[in-house]
Amino acid sequence: MYRDRLRETLPRVRDAIARAAAAAGRDPGEVRLVAVTKGHPVEAGLAAVEAGIADLGENRVGELEEKVARVGRERVRWHMIGHLQRRKVPTALAVSDLIHSVDSIRLAQRISRVAEEGGLGRVAVLLQVNTSGEAAKGGFAPERALEALLETAELPGLEVRGLMTMAPLTDDELVLRTTFGRLRELRDALRSRRPDVGGELSMGMTNDLPSAVAEGSTMVRIGTALFGERSEA
Ligand SMILES: *Cc1c(COP(=O)(O)O)cnc(C)c1O
Repeated sequence: MYRDRLRETLPRVRDAIARAAAAAGRDPGEVRLVAVTKGHPVEAGLAAVEAGIADLGENRVGELEEKVARVGRERVRWHMIGHLQRRKVPTALAVSDLIHSVDSIRLAQRISRVAEEGGLGRVAVLLQVNTSGEAAKGGFAPERALEALLETAELPGLEVRGLMTMAPLTDDELVLRTTFGRLRELRDALRSRRPDVGGELSMGMTNDLPSAVAEGSTMVRIGTALFGERSEA
């Protein structure tokens, strides 16, 4: 079932990325597709791998662990994209290649410490910024983000590859572009102070992919458009 669905949906999503990139004068190869399988069975992940998708994302550590066990740790790059509790950091580090959702200094410190103590080298992370300013959303507050991000980037066990944000659920193009544009500006400000921070921008979901690509996204996290609606747990 997921295999049949992806035959239709994957070309559509790739095409949407290509069109948005072309419209912005960007190379579509700069935009990585992270397929978000949360809320779908492991068959969704297996079908995605079969279809040639190289990046899978989950928003909960437990579900990530399950999927990794069934799909294979080495078969794709695994992305942890949801809020991470500090006590789950060791597990998250074992089963993911990139954590998108480092949303506080305390969490960053924990990751750095676990990485150092475990001899894991520098762990690849993105710092999540709440550029929409919505109270319900996680991430560093945008007003003081630059200082907090600079402090976080100092931690010895982290390799900060870039930033991540989530937009409000709206079709208002101006709101979306503003939310994503803020993340790009913050990345540029951060890198002018710390050139060793990476340039990744994880932004864009099913509802707002074109706006995110227009504002410079390098990783879109797509669930619904690929796998259909999920039954929310
Ligand atoms: C669920 C989720 C997505 C994917 O959302 P869709 O709207 O289904 O594409 C992307 N990012 C995060 C952090 C998510 O939790």
